[in-house]
Amino acid sequence: MSTGMARPRIHLLATGGTIAGEADPAGDGARYRAGVRPVEQLLAAVPGLDATAELSAEQILALDSKDMTPADWLTILAATRRALADTTIAGIVILHGTDTLEETAYFLHLTLPGDKPVVLTGAMRPADHPEADGPANLRAAVCLAASPSAQGKGVLAVMNRTAYPARWLCKARTHGLDAFESARPWTDGRPDGRCADLSPATLPRVDLLMGYAGAPPELVDACVAGGARGLVLALTGHGSVPAAWQPALARARGHGVAILRASRCAGPVDHNANADDDREGWLTAGDLPPAKARIALMLALARGGEAQSFLQLEE
Ligand code: ASP
Repeated sequence: MSTGMARPRIHLLATGGTIAGEADPAGDGARYRAGVRPVEQLLAAVPGLDATAELSAEQILALDSKDMTPADWLTILAATRRALADTTIAGIVILHGTDTLEETAYFLHLTLPGDKPVVLTGAMRPADHPEADGPANLRAAVCLAASPSAQGKGVLAVMNRTAYPARWLCKARTHGLDAFESARPWTDGRPDGRCADLSPATLPRVDLLMGYAGAPPELVDACVAGGARGLVLALTGHGSVPAAWQPALARARGHGVAILRASRCAGPVDHNANADDDREGWLTAGDLPPAKARIALMLALARGGEAQSFLQLEE
């Protein structure tokens, strides 16, 4: 349908997820497969959407986002940059599984210039569910990407009638339409783009280890032996390093592996507080949660140069 008014062009990049999921015919009715339906079929389930925006779409991946890799982030980044360079496109909507949506969103937040809206969305129920949430989420994401209010906010996500800024977004619950939350409202979002000029062919391996009662230090050695160039430690409390890990961490530093202290808790891990980071050669996450600190460290290592000041570039 045409309203006669100029509509912004919104380009959809589909990567799979539950939003494109269907019940598993081999399952017991409770299971489903993510990333099955093509983007054209998802668009057909949202009648009248073309009154809001002129739509175009590309199926770039068809994954359950639990299986998303850093190589897939680079595929999404390349497709997003290509679309953003098209002057006829006003904004991008990325359809994505919810499990790692916050990781892809934050990766793009750091690697895109933030000059046009980029909005991620997904669904908690598969597309063939009688009360599927995907169509409403897709509609809301297209409306937000087409809206001038989304400009200058950095990468955003929309789920369950709520918008979130990529920097603060997290999937907080395993079930329910209200699975996502954010420490700050979407209107607090602003572009970051500190790696907008970076085009790495691959990303360095950075592993994530959790601190817990009795956590064996051999895990650190295994990551180093496996080729990790960085380790993010999701530690207890204020990023407290277990004494039993100290020798393994010193060995890792001896191999040039970057060590970054983060916390399992919400709240900041401050540099040189609760540990002598400068003496040990450790980095700290500030208030970035571990999975996002890992992304920032991967990009810091890909870019080269001093990492702590890169990590501290925050709003
Ligand atoms: N495992 C699914 C995925 O992340 C979950 C979802 O999309 O809600 O692709």
